[in-house]
This record gives sequence, structure tokens and C-alpha cells, in this order.
Amino acid sequence: MSKTSSTPVPFGLSRRSLLQAGGVVLLLGRQHIAQGASIVAVRVWPAPEYSRVTIESDIPLSAKPVFVPTPPRLAVDVEGIDLNPALRELVAKVRSDDPNIASIRVGQFAPGIVRLVIDLKQEARPQVFTLAPIAPYKHRLVLDLYPAKAVDPLEALISERLRDASGSTAAASTAAPPIATPPPAAVAAAPLADPLGDLIAQRNQRPAPAPAAPPPAVIAQAPSPVPAPAPRPAPAPAPRQAPNIATSRSTDRIIIVALDPGHGGEDPGATGPSGLREKDVVLKIGHLLRERINDARIGGNPMRAFMTRDADFFVPLATRVDKARRVQADLFISIHADAFTTPAARGASVFALSERGASSTAARWLANKENQSDLVGGLNMGVQDQHVQRMLLDMSTTAQIKDSLKLGTSLLGEISGMAKLHKGKVEQAGFAVLKAPDIPSVLVETAFISNPEEEAKLRSSAYQEQLADALMNGIRKYFAHNPPLARSRSV
Ligand SMILES: [Zn+2]
Repeated sequence: MSKTSSTPVPFGLSRRSLLQAGGVVLLLGRQHIAQGASIVAVRVWPAPEYSRVTIESDIPLSAKPVFVPTPPRLAVDVEGIDLNPALRELVAKVRSDDPNIASIRVGQFAPGIVRLVIDLKQEARPQVFTLAPIAPYKHRLVLDLYPAKAVDPLEALISERLRDASGSTAAASTAAPPIATPPPAAVAAAPLADPLGDLIAQRNQRPAPAPAAPPPAVIAQAPSPVPAPAPRPAPAPAPRQAPNIATSRSTDRIIIVALDPGHGGEDPGATGPSGLREKDVVLKIGHLLRERINDARIGGNPMRAFMTRDADFFVPLATRVDKARRVQADLFISIHADAFTTPAARGASVFALSERGASSTAARWLANKENQSDLVGGLNMGVQDQHVQRMLLDMSTTAQIKDSLKLGTSLLGEISGMAKLHKGKVEQAGFAVLKAPDIPSVLVETAFISNPEEEAKLRSSAYQEQLADALMNGIRKYFAHNPPLARSRSV
């Protein structure tokens, strides 16, 4: 590969310029350093929200990251290893459509020190941290590249909606337009009074929400002697009572359903006996349900699906909840297909949050397992959003649970028409992802992927379509009895 370099001081960065460039040099896990770490695997996870590079090794790696703003690139000196074929694989693993990473170069900087340079497509806020072994993984060195301008979930939703609206008249659209607030003309051109236009107008009258992405600093798990270069802006408090996005015409009210395909990226979720991965199948079901929601109306109001993840990357549990709140979702539906301790376990189930204990040992077991997603997926504990955590702890959930049980019952009723149920009623346990205090939230276990028959069904697109149909019908029935305007949106 021509991009791979092995010159002793590659990429025009001397040690001096490294020290001068960013001023932040961190040592990660230095106390455990031994020469001769073996690289187990390297992975790259591209997504608009952030792109991640993972280097997995048998012993902890020490890394000195330096961000160089012009042209934007992250240089990382990894100590305790020599350049080897596994590391060179990184060069070829960068996809041309990676939203953040342009290319990766690797070179032997000094004996026992490999320099990685990640060339970026735009200004970025990198995070570099290490993870201790968990589940199938050994030690991981993680390089997360967040775009300097964070993806705002509401803007993403708006631009997607407008793209679809224009795509229905001119289906030839190819590349997605950049995420930006659309010009007023685009809204005016819509054939119907577009409630999203009101949403945009309302939004423009409010202070801009805090960015959804974590802060820009290069942060290590180990305490840093150097302060982070740019502190996180104070997050805007999420509204307890969502603002009224209806206009005087009470029917102009877009109904937003947050769809949350479980797992993703470093967290594959469960894997079936023949290798089907939960994270892949739940994303497919999410896409099918999104199509149905985006085509639907409830009581004359258009619906819109918002996906907490729309690609194969890791999203922390609290971030999923936070995103749904930022778009003021009316419902939150987390989609899963977990394994159980025995391959005989089968059937779909639906879960709501529990304030006091789980409704069964199986429910508790599953909740514990789901809540491990942050550990497996690789949460940067150093920057976990304190605001989000506090918000989730403080707020009452009694009314939310009541609504969630209604939603769950409605979904379960429809699923029972096309699949075997594991339990005939909605179960409850302490699922972290169901903790939005103001959004009815359920977690649907579509089937047990550990059961060979159910794995085969989950793999078939016919079954995936049936599941999406059942969930859509369940959502409709829920709204038929619990009209969205009766909830907090209309003030
Ligand atoms: Zn799961």
C-alpha cells in the first residue's frame, strides 16, 4: 500500500512540532506498559456522528495523541509496539465514504513506537481513551473523531424530511445534502402545510440546543496532568414540558417516533447459532419500520421516524435517550433480538421500565445484559455526560411507565398475531435505555436469536416485514386510544 510509510520520522511531524502543535500529550496506561504487545485486531467504524478507530491488543497500549488543526489530523504515538501487518491493515480499512476520516498513515517512529496519523475531512474533536478487557475483547485503545460541528438530531431529522419530500417528486436524488436548516423556500414549496416548517420556525425562536456529541477534548481514563483544551459548553436543560410545536391549527402536529436499533459498532449484541448478529438484524427491522412510519398519518397528522442510530456504530445508552428527547419524540421503541441462556427459549416479548425491581428473573437478567452495552461498545467514562445522567435519575417516571405499559400492550397484541410470545404481558425491569422520563418507552425483543428456528426467521426479509407491520399496527392502535395531542406537546 503506497499510503503505508515506514520512514523513521514520517508525516513531517517532528517530536518538537508534536509538542508545540496541540499542547496536549497524555499517557494512557503507562504503568502496565511492556514492550512487544501483540495486536489482536484493528477496526474502523465510520458514521456521521463520529468515526472510531479501535486497536485491540493483548496488553494495554500507551498512546500520546496530538491534534493538529491545519490541515486537520490526529497524530498518535503508540508505545510498546512495532509496525506490523495488523497495524498496516488500518490503512486499507478507511472507507472513501467515511464522513470524518480521509486516510490513515502508519509508520515506525522510533523503536517500540508506532505513529498513526489520521487525516481528517473536517475539523474534529478527538477523544482518545483505553478500555479494559470485557466480553470478547482484550485491551482496546480507542480513537474517536467527532466533527467539530456536532450533528444535531433535530436538524438531521428536518433535513431528512425535506430530502424525502423533494425526492418524492424527483426520485433521482443521489447524494444526501449536507445537514443544515433548509431555506424557507424549500418549506413553502411543500404541497401541504408542512408542520415541520412550524417546527423549524419554533426551533429558530428558541436558543440552540447544546450539541449532542461529547466534548472536544482529548481525554484519557487516567487522570490528566493537562486540562482539556476546550471545555464542554453547558448543556441546555432538556425541557420537562416539550414546547408547543403545534400551531393554532391543532392538527398541524408532526408525530415523532424514536426508533432505537440496539447495539452497534463494537457492541454486536447477541449472535445466533449460525452467525446472524443482533445489531444487523435490528437495524434492518428499524429501517422497515421507519418506512412505514414515514408513510403514515395519525388523525391527519404526519408521522416521522427518528433513528437513534442509522449505521453500524456504537451509541451509548444515555445518548440514545438524550437524542430522543432532543427531537421531542412522542414514543421511543428500542428494537432487540437477544440470546438467552438456553437455545430452547423462544418468542417475542416487550418490556417497560420498572421503578421497583423486575417483574421476573428473566426480565432482570435481560435488563442487566442490555445495560452492559456501554461497557462492550466502549463508553468513554471520562466524558460521560453528567447532565444526562442526572436528568435520568432525578425525574419521576410513574406516568411514563403507565403510558409505556399501554404502548407495550398494544405492540404485544399485534405481535401475537404473527409470532409466538415469550410472555403474554408486558414485562418490567430497569433497562437504562427506557429512562426518558417524558416519553413512553418500550424495548421489543423481537425473538431469541439464540433459538435456531427464530434465528432463521429473523434472517428472512418476509419475517422482518411482518414484524415491522405488526409494530406499525401496534403504534396506530396505541395512538387511537392515546391521541398524541392529549400529551405534553400541546400547551
Ligand atoms: Zn439486545
